[in-house]
Amino acid sequence: MKCLVTGAAGFIGSHLIDQLLENGYEVIGADNFITGRKENIAHLAGNKNFTFFEHDVVKSLPDVDANYIFHFASPASPPKYQQFPIETLLVNSYATIQLLELARKWNARFIFASTSEIYGEPEQHPQKETYWGNVNPIGPRSCYDEGKRFGEASVAAFIRKYNLDCKIIRIFNTYGPRMDINDGRVVTNFIKQLLKRRKLTIYGNGKQTRSFCFISDLIEAILKVAFTNKAQGEVFNVGSSHEITITELAAILTRLTGVSSDVINKPLPQDDPTRRKPDISKVKKMLGWESKISLEKGLQQTIAYFQSN
Ligand code: NAD
Ligand code: UDP
Repeated sequence: MKCLVTGAAGFIGSHLIDQLLENGYEVIGADNFITGRKENIAHLAGNKNFTFFEHDVVKSLPDVDANYIFHFASPASPPKYQQFPIETLLVNSYATIQLLELARKWNARFIFASTSEIYGEPEQHPQKETYWGNVNPIGPRSCYDEGKRFGEASVAAFIRKYNLDCKIIRIFNTYGPRMDINDGRVVTNFIKQLLKRRKLTIYGNGKQTRSFCFISDLIEAILKVAFTNKAQGEVFNVGSSHEITITELAAILTRLTGVSSDVINKPLPQDDPTRRKPDISKVKKMLGWESKISLEKGLQQTIAYFQSN
């Protein structure tokens, strides 16, 4: 069985590939390194079951055949997708359509990496898959939010029109080793600031919430969703149910690193969601998944990774 993974050199893509190879799949990876890093897949050099294409999947696609397509290519951190707004729109829209066409041609199953961002500034809490969201279509985050919403609409259209075998995974804030320390997301910013004895940058009053999921839990969920024959055409929230404020996150990381840094408050970026927590009852009920790694344990592993890199 062959899997094509786009975004292969990214944080999630590289962990996904490791697990697919471990489970005996042949993997074809594609990445243009717009936000990914060669180091994330360097350990796979020489692995006979892994082939890598340096490709912009908007412009060209690997000429291969696969049984599964995992479309994970897209800048994911707010500063990065705002730095590359057109690229972000295109990889989630045009490239998604192209890859869906390939899935049709190859008779492959298609798994789309969507995001909690499609809920925007949520008026329902926690967010269920049935919630349609509250997104500013022209705000600074819209290249990502609307790109992903277009991607989801494309998947839905291919399911309706061609009965294509597709799944959508709405990923909520995930962290862990192999994140880019300079990607500007909160976990990496705080760890970098603490390890370099810099001030902790809290945006706004720090009362906004997120629910952080460790990468190994996410990968387990992706595999369950991808390989079950039960959930054709379904959309699943995947994330941790442990909701905390950003100030609490700063306090936990301060304790775990043993470094005490001053806090500097910076303005809250426009359209930064004030609350976010997944309702995971669907994935729990249908596939028996929920996150297992505690925030403390996951953050310890992440800190250790950045200390040794
Ligand atoms: P990442 O930036 O580490 O990885 C994305 C990868 O996609 C990078 O290697 C990048 O170079 C590659 N890429 C982007 N555009 C490309 C293109 N046109 N052609 C080829 N490669 C391209 O981000 P991540 O956190 O690993 O996110 C992976 C996927 O999961 C993304 O689709 C993202 O939207 C989604 N997601 C992630 C999170 C999270 O918390 N990490 C949350 C929600 C959704
Ligand atoms: N944030 C912060 N300080 C930082 C980076 C982010 O306070 O140095 C906040 C940000 O405003 C948001 C939350 O942390 O409310 C999560 O931000 P991140 O960029 O990690 O992901 P998001 O969930 O917003 O996509």
